[in-house]
Amino acid sequence: MKKTIRDIDVSGKKVLVRCDFNVPQDENGNITDIRRIQGALPTIRYLIDNNAKVILCSHLGRPKGEVKKEFSLLPVQKELSKELGIEVKLADDIVGKSAKELTKNMKEREVVLLENVRFDKREEANDKELSKELASLADIYVNDAFGTAHRAHSSTAGVSEFLPSVSGFLIEKEIKFLGEALNNPERPFVSIIGGKKVSDKISVINNLLEKVDVLIIGGGMAYTFLKSEGLNIGKSICEEDKIDLAKELIEKAKEKNVKLLLPVDIKVAKEFSNEAESKVVAVDEIEDEWEGMDIGPKTIEEYKNILESAKTIMWNGPLGVFEFDNFAYGTNKIAEILANSNAITIIGGGDSAAAIEKAGYADKMTHISTGGGASLEFLEGKKLPGIECLLEK
Ligand code: ADP
Ligand code: MG
Repeated sequence: MKKTIRDIDVSGKKVLVRCDFNVPQDENGNITDIRRIQGALPTIRYLIDNNAKVILCSHLGRPKGEVKKEFSLLPVQKELSKELGIEVKLADDIVGKSAKELTKNMKEREVVLLENVRFDKREEANDKELSKELASLADIYVNDAFGTAHRAHSSTAGVSEFLPSVSGFLIEKEIKFLGEALNNPERPFVSIIGGKKVSDKISVINNLLEKVDVLIIGGGMAYTFLKSEGLNIGKSICEEDKIDLAKELIEKAKEKNVKLLLPVDIKVAKEFSNEAESKVVAVDEIEDEWEGMDIGPKTIEEYKNILESAKTIMWNGPLGVFEFDNFAYGTNKIAEILANSNAITIIGGGDSAAAIEKAGYADKMTHISTGGGASLEFLEGKKLPGIECLLEK
């Protein structure tokens, strides 16, 4: 277990918090989705309430080591000030004159935001000097940016070498739900893996086969598995060079006594479009000119039965081409089943989260992971530098 801000005395201390303020903006720089800012508030408010001097930092976009006005954290500073009801001060730089001045004589409960850490090319190089300079601004380091926790950068990991380092509430929650599901799940533990390609999720499937009781496979990647079983998949998406691997994964599931479920019926279409002619066929009846776009009703029924007896469900990757309304049914149905389930439900993956959001079930899930790449690496069983660097309890 990693220490959190609750395990350390922050009163009167300067606390440097790495946040994820990488918010989407429109062409005029207006923030179009403030959820990442809202997500950071509990950690910031806790620090304010406990009389810390709060120094925030984050990246925004890809300025590639150069100061670029369109990637300034100014809009974030405005939104933060509004949400917190206090004036958050924005430094013009990261560790330069302005940052030093603003953080030097801070009062308790004051909040300073440093400029975009990726304005400094040393950030992504995990440069030791930058880490040191960042550390020199503060007494304690808090990482609360899960989305970049799989990257070893100066502000996400490097700085921890020079300061006592703990997690904020967001990272704590990610470790709790993702970690507990992987290491100590309530069983039966069922995982649903979908999405476009097997190659994106080989390591995840490999790792999950060590942990789960049932592995459900859907989405585009299912066709590589089906083909490895000798079935005709028509024009469905397939990675020819991963067919042997799919076979090995099916073998591994058998060895590990993991029940591996593939679709039994498919909604196929004549072409890859929402308006395409479509029909439902049994999985062994896919014809040459057709491609698999969604799981069929029998498959949904079968998956439903398994999911209803699960105690922990982890879902990563849509089960069909959910961007097309006519092929979103399977994904939406599975989302509905999870929403009505009493199991612990954990969602990883950007597109899966978007699908659940779109279906209106986001607040019915136990945990929706905020880090696409980071949650995949976590599920692969990799150690994330931004988490490894924090103090153990
Ligand atoms: P996540 O972001 O949740 O990890 P992925 O990025 O792996 O998910 O996959 C999402 C994509 O997979 C979606 O764009 C979706 O359209 C695509 N997909 C799902 N099923 C199919 C299919 N049968 N054929 C082609 N693409 C599919
Ligand atoms: Mg994706």
